[in-house]
Amino acid sequence: MPQIVKMPERNQHSSAYDLLGLGIGPFNLSVAALAQSIPQMRTAFFDQKQEFKWHHGLMFSGSILQTSFLKDLVTPVEPTSPYSFLAFLVEKKRFYDFLAGGFTGVTRVEFNEYLAWAAGKMSNLQWGRSAQDATLKDDALTVTFDDGRVVSSKNLVIGTGMTPFLPHWSQPHLGENCFHASNYLSQDRCFDNKCVTVIGGGQTGAEIVLDLLTNQQRKPKEVLWISNLPRFSPLEEGGFVDQVFTPGYVSSYQSLPERSQLQEVASQKLASDGLTPSTVDELYAEVYRRKHLSNNECNITLLSGRNVIAMERNGPSYQLTSQSAISEQVEQQQTDIVVLATGARPALPDFMEPLLPRLSMDENGLPELDSSYKLAWDGPKNLQIFGLNLGLSSHGIVDPQMSLMAWRAATILNRVVGSELFDLDEDEQMIKWPSVPQESVLAQVMPA
Ligand SMILES: Cc1cc2nc3c(=O)[nH]c(=O)nc-3n(C[C@H](O)[C@H](O)[C@H](O)COP(=O)(O)OP(=O)(O)OC[C@H]3O[C@@H](n4cnc5c(N)ncnc54)[C@H](O)[C@@H]3O)c2cc1C
Repeated sequence: MPQIVKMPERNQHSSAYDLLGLGIGPFNLSVAALAQSIPQMRTAFFDQKQEFKWHHGLMFSGSILQTSFLKDLVTPVEPTSPYSFLAFLVEKKRFYDFLAGGFTGVTRVEFNEYLAWAAGKMSNLQWGRSAQDATLKDDALTVTFDDGRVVSSKNLVIGTGMTPFLPHWSQPHLGENCFHASNYLSQDRCFDNKCVTVIGGGQTGAEIVLDLLTNQQRKPKEVLWISNLPRFSPLEEGGFVDQVFTPGYVSSYQSLPERSQLQEVASQKLASDGLTPSTVDELYAEVYRRKHLSNNECNITLLSGRNVIAMERNGPSYQLTSQSAISEQVEQQQTDIVVLATGARPALPDFMEPLLPRLSMDENGLPELDSSYKLAWDGPKNLQIFGLNLGLSSHGIVDPQMSLMAWRAATILNRVVGSELFDLDEDEQMIKWPSVPQESVLAQVMPA
């Protein structure tokens, strides 16, 4: 439980807030929830949406959260918080029914309901305001919003999420019949009698293919699923795998030289990006049924190990060119609709542009973060900018996902108040991860 803290003194030019959060997805919502237990801290969080919604363009009714519901906004660091998933179940009078179900996971629909419920209880959130630019003014970080409002603070937390990745060959064709998966459910779509190609073999691609095959309202003539991965593989799971989603692993990851960090992230791909086993089972049974037990339904073709490299208009439809990752053989596919389940990438939001010259950026064009998610910059030391979902290279595979969101939020709040308000000390790790003492890393970059 947080103790009473004294916030750093504010001078006569004092900022209106101690901490401003920009974007209210789950990550900043966790910061907002934990900040509620520090009444001395003046915080405000802003989102361009009119209300809380979590990836609503992909909110399939049966999709299961890939993370334990106990890794909610607060529980791992403040289990007595009123914003926990268990508090939600109790208040909604579904605690016993939920437990009796013995569910292996909670649905994304229910977790979204929980997040929106928690957001509805917080007094420090403001909706319908899009941040336009962030500048340094009068010894404060100042943010201007689209309605002209200007707000200043000593600390900013950027929580604007990832940017959909649109391959260059798709960009001239974006529109009604070629769109990113994140918009799949955001508007009514007609797939009747069409050939629909889903590009991307991750969980999102799998959920869309399953929807195309099983949703009674969809009547495509043919579904093509193209993946650049060698197999349609399930998530790697189990206690030992899950140990990489712990604070202790993050510490050892941070001690590694950059080359080893890249290898670690690549080797852990299936621990975070694999397919949910229940989705794999359902999809396999459906493909089997269509292949062997039915001859009147749409065809499904699965193409693994193919990189799509080009897309061209072909009359009313499209021609895709793909290349085998193994043989380099080139093939062509005809299709009417293309769904780009090509993932998302971390990116600094446009409103940070005025501050860009003051930030230290890495070779991927992302800001450098320290262990407490603070961006490296040459501004005044008492003003801090923190980045959520920007630390895949600095913090490893866990960064884009929710496993450590409460721990990360508490890490940031501890840094803002300048004390160990939340106790984040860890027990000794179950697995002794490879780690490199800091002097050895220095020795590699600064040979004697
Ligand atoms: C379909 C899907 C399912 C997932 N399932 C899981 C899972 O089961 N387990 C797991 O651990 N992870 C999962 N993830 C990964 C991760 O947990 C989510 O992507 C999560 O939403 C990331 O939270 P976020 O707060 O960083 O960003 P987001 O949820 O993307 O929220 C960003 C917010 O910023 C706002 N915003 C953007 N620009 C501005 C601006 N200029 N001004 C104001 N507001 C702005 C947006 O409106 C948005 O509300 C999933 C991801 C997806 C896409």
